[in-house]
Amino acid sequence: MNIVVVGAGLSGLTVAATLIGAGANVQIVEADTQIGGRIRAVRDPVSNRVLADLGPTWVWPKYQPVVARWLKRLGLQIFEQFNDGDAVITGYGPVPLRQSLPGQDGIVRIVGGPSALIDALVTRIGHANIRTSAPVSAIIKDGDQNIVVRLASGEAIRADKVILSVPMRVAATTIHLPWAPKALLDAMLGTPTWMATQAKAVVLYDHPFWREQGLSGRIASRTGPLVEAHDHTGIEGAPGAVFGFVGWSPEQRSNDPQGLRRAIVDQLAHCFGTAAASPLDLVVQDWAVNPRIATDLDLSQPADHPTVGPGMLRQSYLDGRLRFAVSEASDLSPGLIEGALSIGERAASDML
Ligand SMILES: Cc1cc2nc3c(=O)[nH]c(=O)nc-3n(C[C@H](O)[C@H](O)[C@H](O)COP(=O)(O)OP(=O)(O)OC[C@H]3O[C@@H](n4cnc5c(N)ncnc54)[C@H](O)[C@@H]3O)c2cc1C
Repeated sequence: MNIVVVGAGLSGLTVAATLIGAGANVQIVEADTQIGGRIRAVRDPVSNRVLADLGPTWVWPKYQPVVARWLKRLGLQIFEQFNDGDAVITGYGPVPLRQSLPGQDGIVRIVGGPSALIDALVTRIGHANIRTSAPVSAIIKDGDQNIVVRLASGEAIRADKVILSVPMRVAATTIHLPWAPKALLDAMLGTPTWMATQAKAVVLYDHPFWREQGLSGRIASRTGPLVEAHDHTGIEGAPGAVFGFVGWSPEQRSNDPQGLRRAIVDQLAHCFGTAAASPLDLVVQDWAVNPRIATDLDLSQPADHPTVGPGMLRQSYLDGRLRFAVSEASDLSPGLIEGALSIGERAASDML
């Protein structure tokens, strides 16, 4: 049996690893030049070690049973989010305020970041089973037994079964699905992609110097451009890193990327002192400009935290031969890493 998984984010890779573990023949086709989807990292150019996460950072295994199970299964370690010392709060008065802010209960980081999940799953799947730069343009029923997965290049891949692991709105607007009933397409269009319109900035320093001043590295700001920031130094302790969410709108960000970078460094110097004015590196990952993640609908209708979508996102189609597996389709923690792992293993077991 030949199963094609469309999309190599965490959900697609979880399905593929589970199916391959059960003896299935699986091929993954991914539109981007790299795998991981919303999970992406800044890596050391020499050692390839992950230095900072450009997508997700946190998991809550104390409250997330599926994350806890997969961390154990893949042999991955966790460590606490650093939050010792004062946060810096700006925009509430003429000068920055120092104040301790409680951390979230159970919030932790994965050693090597969520990219360690991707790397471990790829080891189980095998690079030979993953094709990148292969955007799918149509999924069509072909007789009673076959499905054709058509690539934008025109190539047709025949499959016995298909798992569609693409954000729901991206699938509904960019992949031709002639068999899909209108109610299903409407449900897909009504499912926002979590964090799709966000931009995340990571700033690297030689070491986390703010800790020496009794600062936690945390910023809460009404003025921005980073509306919140956190210490993002890895477990090794160097380089020092801070990450923050950018408060500028997608339009402001694309109109003035250089101005944004200057404003981020100025803000960090204002909060942490002049040592922050000379970072080793600054990377802004703008997810809103990635058409494989964010659609015009996401940009025009800002989303709240995802809620559980309708059951039709978890049903099978094409006589049981097609299922969805993307975090937002999950009925457990939709939009989060927990949701991606959960829908991934569920789609695989339902398919088998
Ligand atoms: C900035 C940011 C911060 C986040 N923080 C957290 C956090 O701290 N904790 C947490 O739990 N979650 C967080 N999340 C959410 C988490 O990243 C997602 O839940 C998870 O990565 C989703 O994985 P997925 O495989 O379901 O979808 P995706 O990662 O979106 O994967 C979908 C894949 O489909 C591919 N694709 C799209 N169209 C096609 C096509 N036509 N053909 C082939 N392939 C296609 C895409 O390129 C992509 O690789 C964050 C997300 C972002 C962006």
